[in-house]
Amino acid sequence: MDRQNVGNTHACGAFAEGKPPPSVAKGRVSDRIVVATAAAGSVFIAAGITTDLVRQVRERHELAPTVGMAAGRLITGASLLGARLKSGERLSLQIAGEGQLRTLVADVCRPKPQEIGARAYASVTDVDPPHHINGKSRIALAIGKGWLQATRSYEVGQPYVGITPLASGEIGDDIAQYLLQSEQIPSVIALGVLVSEDGVTIAGGAIAQLLPGAPESTIGALNARVHEMPSITALIEQGASPEALAQNIAGVFDLHIQESYDVSFYCRCTIDKVALALMSLGRDELAKLISEQELTEAVCEFCKKQYLLSREELQALIKQLDERKNDST
Ligand SMILES: [Zn+2]
Repeated sequence: MDRQNVGNTHACGAFAEGKPPPSVAKGRVSDRIVVATAAAGSVFIAAGITTDLVRQVRERHELAPTVGMAAGRLITGASLLGARLKSGERLSLQIAGEGQLRTLVADVCRPKPQEIGARAYASVTDVDPPHHINGKSRIALAIGKGWLQATRSYEVGQPYVGITPLASGEIGDDIAQYLLQSEQIPSVIALGVLVSEDGVTIAGGAIAQLLPGAPESTIGALNARVHEMPSITALIEQGASPEALAQNIAGVFDLHIQESYDVSFYCRCTIDKVALALMSLGRDELAKLISEQELTEAVCEFCKKQYLLSREELQALIKQLDERKNDST
């Protein structure tokens, strides 16, 4: 049942899409992602609800509704892909567009075996284009033409980096195009985020991917299904569970649920990583900070956590830099 912020669920306000607020407080389903196979084991499916996750991203970064919806779609897509990560692996999705929104980043890891942890940020937080122009949604308008870059990091070895042009700026299409062109995985994705003026109300998604050996006709059937199925937000609004979302994208194919994961906001920042970032500024810049202020503030771009470092701590970083220099000479 509702495990957090029950008191917030009535705060719908004016809907960005001009729809009346749905009654999401009743029977609301907690954030969770299920994975399943379909079509006699030839299709992988991940589907789930990310409402609280997206609300957290929006609140931490004070995102305007359009940016909240875009960041919500990206972190939901990343979270669905996160269900296939192994422990110690990470996936980062970055959208760089020519539109006002510029850069969106979401990344995902597996903090515990039954958990998916995700975080996101937007480089510009207050873009709100007018409703649909020339058939393009506000999200596609804000993103514009551009690129999607994915970075897969493993416990050992070099990361895999793939980059593909954006298909439409709607994010679901863009991730599917990346998966096909860069990883050769035919996929269909449905993402849904509905944001009010004063908070995220509904978010979730479903992805279906062909596994090796699947008949080619299967992707055509899944594509048709993703276009005819009810919208993800409408399904969640009606109380659909992650399992029901998985069944919806599977359509007529048989479905076998395999696992269920909690999904939540999770930032990997630590004081050590902040120290490394500060050291990358170099000796002169650190010395300047020491001369200018008692305390140096560093803020994590993903979770907005503030780290304060004293002059002594910065001095210790300079010492480390000097020692490294001596070691390498
Ligand atoms: Zn952080």
